[in-house]
Amino acid sequence: MDPVPVVFCPSCGSGEADAFCPRCGQRIRGRLDTSEVLVQFASGLTNVEHGLFHTLRELTLRPGKMLRGYLAGRTVRLVPPATLLFLAVGLYFMLFSVLDVGRQVMPAVAASDPAALASNARLIAAWERHGRWLQILQIPLLALAWRLFLGSRVRYAECFVFGCYVLAYVQILTLASLAAAGISQAAKIAVSGVINLATYAYVAWAGRGTFELAWWGATWRILLPLVLTQSVVGAAFVVFGKLMQ
Ligand SMILES: [Zn+2]
Repeated sequence: MDPVPVVFCPSCGSGEADAFCPRCGQRIRGRLDTSEVLVQFASGLTNVEHGLFHTLRELTLRPGKMLRGYLAGRTVRLVPPATLLFLAVGLYFMLFSVLDVGRQVMPAVAASDPAALASNARLIAAWERHGRWLQILQIPLLALAWRLFLGSRVRYAECFVFGCYVLAYVQILTLASLAAAGISQAAKIAVSGVINLATYAYVAWAGRGTFELAWWGATWRILLPLVLTQSVVGAAFVVFGKLMQ
């Protein structure tokens, strides 16, 4: 019998590699060629699309069931929570700049007072510059608040994943209010009011399903920590914005 040629894994150097490396999962292939690149490009595109479409559909139709599944280890078909969050926050702030939402919302705050107007303009500029980090950094705080309110039957990490998925979805919902800001002031106020209510209802619904709570439990164990954390983070941002001026 001919000895099987030893294939070394190009990633970790293990000598047991076959079609895949059993130690690190690296796929073994020959020298890169065009067909390989085309296959990778196509599969990368469809993998991301399938995963994204599936994840967004599940988050729309049955977020509690999806999240319970994720926490139980059924993760293959889902876009990872942090990836979805970065994607949603990135898209939101890109549209915020492209649609020039900052300038659209400014006249509503204090049209008669030039000093207040200038101060608001700086706040909106700060939001455009630093808002994305705020949106992401609030997740560990929120997870802590949820962990405290939900008690020891849940883990901090589970609250963290819940926060990533749910806030990413909410960020996608608020894209609609950005678009409405371009229409008219009245449309903006109406749409953002409806979206705010829908957002809170959604988070409570998702939390109810994920952590198997009653409606009342979801209201105070999920929504109260959310409102508290967002108030603290929002106030800190305004204070920070004023201090920077
Ligand atoms: Zn390897």
